[in-house]
Amino acid sequence: MTRKSVTAQYPDVQPELPPRSRGVIALLEENCTVCMLCARECPDWCIYIDSHKETLPAVEPNARARTRNVLDRFAIDFSLCMYCGICIEVCPFDALFWSPEFEYAEEDIHDLTHERERLREWMWTVPAPPALDPSAEEPKEIAAARKAAEKAAAAEAAARAAAAAAADADGEAGAGADAGTDAPGSSEGDA
Ligand code: SF4
Ligand code: SF4
Repeated sequence: MTRKSVTAQYPDVQPELPPRSRGVIALLEENCTVCMLCARECPDWCIYIDSHKETLPAVEPNARARTRNVLDRFAIDFSLCMYCGICIEVCPFDALFWSPEFEYAEEDIHDLTHERERLREWMWTVPAPPALDPSAEEPKEIAAARKAAEKAAAAEAAARAAAAAAADADGEAGAGADAGTDAPGSSEGDA
């Protein structure tokens, strides 16, 4: 009331939305294991998933063949979605994210069911996660990767030190042998 009203010149000028705006739900298909948790927890039942099982050959002799789920369809009906974010919260594999994308209006309500190709495209508009609090505990994945890298570096240094020690020992043995062969020579001198 105390400020002059300004007309937003959309679509010529895009609005500046907060980075964590709830626009649409993006799918990182590569992370989805078809566990169906999101579809089961969605209060509106507006996530549609189809999949089939694929048998993978055993990686070792006498081992059993493995099966894995292959995603055939992943769609969200945005005419039903109430943007509660439960699906994103419950996904155990970080396959769903909020994107601030908002230009997905359609003329027909039936076209508001968006398929996995469109959901995958929206991944490009998902903002990077906020930086960690400097005093926060190190994430488990990073701590595990750091420990593994330190262990590998220590093993490499130990192998290098062992190789150097072996080379030194060979050198000393060679010098000793040379000294041993010199001894008869000295007796030649005596003769
Ligand atoms: S945001 Fe809520 S309503 Fe929308 S798809 Fe996810 S769980 Fe369902
Ligand atoms: S909860 Fe995540 S991993 Fe499971 S089906 Fe949904 S998107 Fe895929």
